[in-house]
Amino acid sequence: AKTAHNREKIHVNIGTIGHVDHGKTTLTAAITKYLSEKGGAKFYSYEKIDNAPEEQARGITINASHVGYETEHRHFGHVDCPGHADYIKNMITGTSSMDAAILVVAATDGTMPQTREHLLLAKQIGVENLVVYMNKVDAADEEMIELVEMEIRETLTSYGFDGENTTIIAGSALCSLEEKEPSIGRDSIAKLCEAIDTVPIPPRDLTSPPVFPIDNVYGIPGRGTVITGCLKQGVLKRGDSLDIIGFGKSLKCSISSMEMFHKTLDRVEAGDQAGVLSKGIKREEVRTGMVAVKAGSIKPTRSLNATVYLLSSKEGGADKPLTHGSEQMMFFKTWGCTCRPEMEESERMVMPGEQGNMRLTMRVPMVILKGDRFTLRRGNTTIGTGIVTDVTE
Ligand code: GDP
Ligand code: MG
Repeated sequence: AKTAHNREKIHVNIGTIGHVDHGKTTLTAAITKYLSEKGGAKFYSYEKIDNAPEEQARGITINASHVGYETEHRHFGHVDCPGHADYIKNMITGTSSMDAAILVVAATDGTMPQTREHLLLAKQIGVENLVVYMNKVDAADEEMIELVEMEIRETLTSYGFDGENTTIIAGSALCSLEEKEPSIGRDSIAKLCEAIDTVPIPPRDLTSPPVFPIDNVYGIPGRGTVITGCLKQGVLKRGDSLDIIGFGKSLKCSISSMEMFHKTLDRVEAGDQAGVLSKGIKREEVRTGMVAVKAGSIKPTRSLNATVYLLSSKEGGADKPLTHGSEQMMFFKTWGCTCRPEMEESERMVMPGEQGNMRLTMRVPMVILKGDRFTLRRGNTTIGTGIVTDVTE
């Protein structure tokens, strides 16, 4: 039998973000090494983490390593991606939702384009709090370290984070991993672990009816169908009746059992990444991108009002405006579909680097709520990100 999940420590989803080669993977390995000595982790080597398995979300291939560890008060699911494109896709698709992030900036370089792109996306997907690890201080002089710290604070503020009060820890992940110079090595990782143990995380909404966006579906012969995802709001309990909605369908099922990190649970709470074994549905009927909700609680929508920010070409966006009536590809949580923006007569287009308000009509009705974030993409480029201000129909 499986053991019960320990709920004494709160679960937090976190990830390393930042420019390529600034040391995200080295830092991830260093954290697990440090915590493994304290009994809070299994050590994951650099090679193991960097050899990220391929995942699929909305037909997009993403490479991401998921690492688990515990600090004094929290249990973490930590994501590290091998390439910049994987980060973008991971953050956009919400494959691994992030409650907070560890921004890695090399003191030898300072903030770079991918640092800024990750910060913009983090903000858009609702990450409010960051801890910064200024890495590679073994290879930078004192003056450089001070300058880079100032620059990091300014950059954070310009993206709407609390640049003044964000914790910035200077250190060397490599020294820690290689057990050299403890003052900039191991000690800095200890400080980082304290910082992520206390960094504010979004409050869980346990009172609204449950909304469970489905990332994956598995059939277990003889037992039923397992749907996996991160519970956005509410609580799920054994025996609960659910509607599985999306792509023009609504299916009924009930919950047989639930598990998280291979341990069984009595209840799944908002913020938990869980697998739910369900009675009454067939594996072939359920698609990634559908949403499981409390039976009868929520109707799918086709039309919504949103504020959309169009990325400038400097931020990796397109150089063409978003125009009224054009066909766009919209991505929300774990699904994508085409939609058509409509704008007021006075502002019939949004230019790159600017934001605008619009009504979006989707080709198929989906469960989407006020406050949800989504992105618009053209081919392989993220051209915009938006937030739902109102659900209209
Ligand atoms: P990522 O692309 O952000 O995941 O970066 P990596 O963790 O792969 O590190 C990129 C390179 O920087 C590797 O060659 C690391 O050995 C090196 N590196 C990582 N941390 C440090 C550090 O603290 N000091 C120095 N000098 N090099 C480091
Ligand atoms: Mg890496």
